[in-house]
Amino acid sequence: MKFSTLAQYYEKLEATSKRLELVDILSQLFKEAKAEEIGKICYLIQGRVAPFFEPTELGMAESLAAQAIGRAFDPTSPRLRGASNPKEEVLKLYRKKGNMGLAAVQLATNAKRRTTNALSVSDVFGELGKIAEFTGNGTVEKKVSTLSDLLKKLDPISVKHVVNIPLGTLRLGIGDPTVLDALSLAKKGDKSLRPVLESAYNKTSDLGYVAETFYKKGEKGLSSIKLIVGKPVRPALAERLPSAEEAIKRLGPEFAAEPKFDGFRVAVHKNGDKVELFSRNLENTTHAFPDIVRGAQREIKAKSAILEGEAIAYNPLTSEFLPFQETTKRRRKYKIEEMAIKLPLVLFAFDLLYLNGKDITAIPYRERRKLLQSIVSKDGSTVRLAEERVLHSAEEITKFFNEAVSEGLEGLMLKKLDSPYVAGGRGFHWIKFKRSQSGELTDTVDCVLLGVYAGRGRRTEFGVGGLLVGVYDEKKDEFVTISRIGTGLTDEEFRKVAEIARKIKVSKKPARVNSKVEPAFWVEPKVVLEIYADEITKSPIHTAGEENGIGYALRFPRLVKFRESDKRAEDATTVEEIKKLYQNQYERSNIKI
Ligand code: ATP
Repeated sequence: MKFSTLAQYYEKLEATSKRLELVDILSQLFKEAKAEEIGKICYLIQGRVAPFFEPTELGMAESLAAQAIGRAFDPTSPRLRGASNPKEEVLKLYRKKGNMGLAAVQLATNAKRRTTNALSVSDVFGELGKIAEFTGNGTVEKKVSTLSDLLKKLDPISVKHVVNIPLGTLRLGIGDPTVLDALSLAKKGDKSLRPVLESAYNKTSDLGYVAETFYKKGEKGLSSIKLIVGKPVRPALAERLPSAEEAIKRLGPEFAAEPKFDGFRVAVHKNGDKVELFSRNLENTTHAFPDIVRGAQREIKAKSAILEGEAIAYNPLTSEFLPFQETTKRRRKYKIEEMAIKLPLVLFAFDLLYLNGKDITAIPYRERRKLLQSIVSKDGSTVRLAEERVLHSAEEITKFFNEAVSEGLEGLMLKKLDSPYVAGGRGFHWIKFKRSQSGELTDTVDCVLLGVYAGRGRRTEFGVGGLLVGVYDEKKDEFVTISRIGTGLTDEEFRKVAEIARKIKVSKKPARVNSKVEPAFWVEPKVVLEIYADEITKSPIHTAGEENGIGYALRFPRLVKFRESDKRAEDATTVEEIKKLYQNQYERSNIKI
């Protein structure tokens, strides 16, 4: 496929504000794609040249992109002809237009030049890939000249979109489930293949790989996709239930219970001596935790493995678990080794997904745990087996829960002994019981920042007076509104939100946002905020779980914390969970602390 054809699709995708139209346009695009280019197209429509978890940084700053554009169009563009500093002229136009692509398209159109327009999607993908890979001496110049040479060969519409890719500002707002729907529609004529596509995607998190396998090997090829060491697995998630009795109904007469550690989730991928780490939101965090990497190399007794655990700051001398506020200090970009010594982490391993070349997600939890025990010791210094008890009654749950909480832990995780590991699945295989600040068994809601209201009075200073937040509708791959938050933020938090919002501001409502209210401006759904509310109520204003014009809303919402580093927007609380929380609040917990 020619890149100019793909660029025309970018135009159409950018113009729509309806999610269903996105799916249709994408499926038309996918119908035109060949097997060897479908993977690349899947990355390119999301502004990438690799799956999101690979640390491939195209990362060009605005000034470098401006330099490349100035160089590409300088000789013939009337605006730039004779200008002493083309880069500055480009930046001026960019500030006027608010988007580098729009500045570039104008300059490319004005420039009197002849383009053969012959570059294919694969050609452009290859050149962008080079930009990502340059390292060492002269990197800046190499990046600029590769981009400017590429731009010279492209038609104006292609220029407009290509420019936004290295800048990370190609904001078509296409979520992964939307791509999966469109792949099914393109090949099958309906969305019936979404579940098989999704299951393959959950195991590898790599849209390009899934799409290419689908095009080359069909539905059968998809079903035979297994876990691959180095590709993050979408984590299995837990459900909430109002009481221990309810949990037993789901888990059966015998079940496993483990402490719920209040740290952060880490997936370890080990292949020989090579170890990679992935976070809850599938980011490659290998470089951030060198102590865990060394611990995994030393202490995991397997040739290859994928295991999951919770990393928590721990004092080995006193056997004390440190609070989350301490653990989270380890999420940093600088002084990594220094902090690894000051605040060592222990990874409490709780599940094993892959062992010595074999995907073991389908075997029962009981068996996986035995295998985990065979490769990780319960007194490892960095990687340690999480405690597990096999329980049979509500009394035993309450006892263990109280013990865990008194040790400073967050509560319990109950697990069904005969359950498989369902990648990306939230099901009753795992049930979580958490304590709350007030000691009652409640939970917070993870909301996505969708828009911002203007600041009035004292808050004019921050530029933000309130927030519009939403939750995720998994079925529709849409973000729906659930609350406006005007109070409950400190000045510091208002400043932080304002800074974040400015970076992700968009000019119109994103296609995947479904809202009846209109904030001062919309933002790209990207940032997750953990919110504590008094109650979930019904409301005609919001679109979360809307039926007959009535949705759900949060009463007296307050910000607990920003969850930018461990949750993607699609990992926010879902509409289904909100419905359950709404029901649960009427059934009081039987677990008392
Ligand atoms: P969720 O992961 O369910 O979306 P969340 O990220 O808000 O929710 P919690 O509600 O606190 O997290 O509960 C689930 C998380 O608990 C897991 O993702 C994992 O990081 C953590 N966890 C701690 N201890 C365990 C354990 N023993 N088994 C499984 N998960 C555990």
